[in-house]
Order: sequence, then C-alpha cells, then structure tokens
Amino acid sequence: MKTDLFDNIEDDIFETYSETEEIDKIKKIISVAKEQSKLKKINITREVNELNKFLILWKNRWKYGLHKKPGYELRIIKNVLLGKTYYMLGYKKYVLRGIEFACTFKCIFRCNHCLCARIDETNKRKELEPKDYSRVVKEAMALGATTFGLEGGEPFVKKNWDEIINSWQPHYNHIIISTNGYLFDEEKAKRCAELGVDTINFSLDSGYSELHDTFRRKKGSFDRVINAIKLSKKHGIKPLINTVVHKGNLYTDGWRELLEFTHREGILINTLFAKGMGNFYDKDALLDEEDLKAYKKIVAPYPNVQRHLNFNYGKQFGCPGMKEMINMTPYGDVMNCANMHIYFGNVLEEPLAVIRERALKKSPFGRYHCCFLAEDRDFMNVYYPILSEKRKGEGYMRIEEFLSSLKEYENKNNKILYPELRYH
Ligand code: SF4
Ligand code: SF4
Repeated sequence: MKTDLFDNIEDDIFETYSETEEIDKIKKIISVAKEQSKLKKINITREVNELNKFLILWKNRWKYGLHKKPGYELRIIKNVLLGKTYYMLGYKKYVLRGIEFACTFKCIFRCNHCLCARIDETNKRKELEPKDYSRVVKEAMALGATTFGLEGGEPFVKKNWDEIINSWQPHYNHIIISTNGYLFDEEKAKRCAELGVDTINFSLDSGYSELHDTFRRKKGSFDRVINAIKLSKKHGIKPLINTVVHKGNLYTDGWRELLEFTHREGILINTLFAKGMGNFYDKDALLDEEDLKAYKKIVAPYPNVQRHLNFNYGKQFGCPGMKEMINMTPYGDVMNCANMHIYFGNVLEEPLAVIRERALKKSPFGRYHCCFLAEDRDFMNVYYPILSEKRKGEGYMRIEEFLSSLKEYENKNNKILYPELRYH
C-alpha cells in the first residue's frame, strides 16, 4: 500500500527551515497544495492559442535545436533524414543523438527523491578520466551523436568538470549541463561560455520558492537557481528547466506559477513524469490515467512545455533510450537513462557500439514506446520490485536479472509483453 505523498513532509520542512515564522508560512502553503492535489481540480488561467503555440514550437526547435558550430546543421539534417528513412522503411536501425554522462554521483543537496545514492560506487570503482571520455565521444560520433550532456549527482561538485567537457570537442558538438544551479556563479557561467556550452538544464520544482526549497531540503535553493538562469542568459547560454511532475504538484498553484514563469521568460520546460524510485518508491506519487489526461489539459496553453520523448530522429514520439540517447555512470556503465538502472556493459571493457547493439536486441528498449518507467504498467510491475530488493551501492541490475523476472511475470500473467525479444 502506497502512502500519501505529503506524509512526512514535516521532516522536510524542519530540515529546511528553522524560524517559527517561516515554518508556519510553509505549512500553510503546503496545506493548500495538499488540498488542491486531493481535489484534483484543473485550474486553467490562460487561453489555448493554436497559432501561437505552433509558432513558438518552431521557434524553440530552432533556438534549442540549432547551434552555431562548424558543420553542426549539416550533421543534424543528415541524421534526421537517415533516422526518418530507417523508421519509415521499418529498419531496426537508429541514429544516435547523444550521451548523457553522469560525471559524479555526489551532490551538495540531499533531496529525498534522489536516485544517485543507490548506484554510487565511487568509494570502490574508478571514475572515467578525460581521455576515456574523449575516446567514448569519438565512438559515439561515429554512430551519429552530436549532443553530449554533463550531469550528476551535481556536475559542478566534480573538480575537473571543465576538463571533461573540453574532451568532448565542444566547439563542434552540442553541449548541455544539467544542474540544480546552486553552485553556478558568474565565474562558472563565463567558463561555460568559453568552453562552448550551449544549454544548461536547471532543476526547478515549483514557481513558489518555499515549495522548491522544501522539496530540495535546502533553504535558498530557489533564489540561487533563478539567479543561475539569469547568469546563463547573460553569458549567451540557453537555459532550460527540468521539472518532475507528480501527484503532489500537478494540480497546485505552485506548478502553474512555474509554467507561467517559463512562459514569461521564453524558457523551454522539460516535464519529467515521476518514477517509482527514491522517496517516491512507496509513495502515491506517479501519475495515473486521470492525472495524465489532466496534465495534457493543464499544459495545453503553454507552448514551451515539452517531454523528452518528443524529439526523436526516427519515430517522432517515444522513449529515446538506447536508440537515440544513452546514459552513462561515472564508471562507464551504459544505461538506457538516468532512471533506468539496468547495466548493459562498460565502455572501459567493450566498444560503445557493441554494448548498444546488445541493449537494442536483448531489452525492450529497441522499440519506440511510451515511458517504460512512468507509463508502461507491466514494465513497472517487473522492474520496480527487483530494484526495491537491491542494496545501496549495489542498486543496479544486470539484463539477465531483468529478463528472468520478465519471463516469470509473463508466464504468471499469461501474456507476452515484448515479442521482439530473442529469448522467446
Ligand atoms: S539535486 Fe539532484 S543530484 Fe542532488 S540530491 Fe537532489 S536529486 Fe540528487
Ligand atoms: S524510460 Fe522513460 S525516462 Fe527513461 S529514457 Fe525512456 S522515456 Fe525517458
């Protein structure tokens, strides 16, 4: 039985605030958010303007998709044409868009929904060095990749974060950093601009500072991230907002204020649906059918809202994991995405192309699909229970473990979920 998302929120409040006045204020804000989440009332304050939506969508595609780097546009055009051709002809081939590298699992925050601690093995494994990144980036570029992302944990706690980016041919490729923004100051903004960083994804949970700070369990984190967004703009780097949508924020004024903020500022907002991991594992946080319908209505007037499943070269909509995007741990383990802790191989032991091919053939990620972790109930019924049995520091699973549980589940429920898998 899942517990209410707002249970234990007092612990987060006391962790974040110490003054009685502040505590009373946040308690009131949370009580309103709790009531709104319970009532599930959809409150829309902006009209849907289809023409405006269409124009902004294309403006954002140019703004965030094209970068003034030698030959970049030509590489993108080639990739789109190739990806679309493979898809239309029904070939099981995909053009790689990029890799997200978690350069460290360390962070200055201790958000209780964090997924990193469970697979943090830095005390016993060697982290990749710039020379390793340089080789992997070349291998990825041979598969079509043009985008490379630095993430964590919190990437700015990694001392040589800039050396790592420098090893990715940053004046030729599209470079993204994903950060909570807390350590991002003028000096870092300048360094990012010098290096050729194009986009910075900032995590922002609410348009209300108190809710963001409580969720992050760090007082002042909202003000810092807002300042970081200003600094990135000042230095010619495109800011983007990453936000997690769950049952506890979707219907709230704070989340609508976040949509309004990004609309006013002309910033793209990437909505990530909550996964059953971290603090959300035993909480009623994941969006159900009713919430998904409500989500569509709530975001309809906001053309800046996107999901990362919308931008494939092949099929327009679908999970990009392994086909077009790859995620990598600081130790070189290859995963579908930051939330999917199934390891397919290690780039210090095998070429990237071999590992990717294995993942495409031996896992369900060789198809464009809805989000496996937030929308595919059968997949979730197989994956999350295995994960819950894992211990901290050994939180990943091997593909064989996953396949064996999948087979058991299929037999028990008398259905075949992914017929394309070779073990059938
Ligand atoms: S800011 Fe991100 S990496 Fe840091 S603890 Fe929170 S969720 Fe984890
Ligand atoms: S499983 Fe979900 S979160 Fe992961 S890459 Fe696919 S769509 Fe994205």
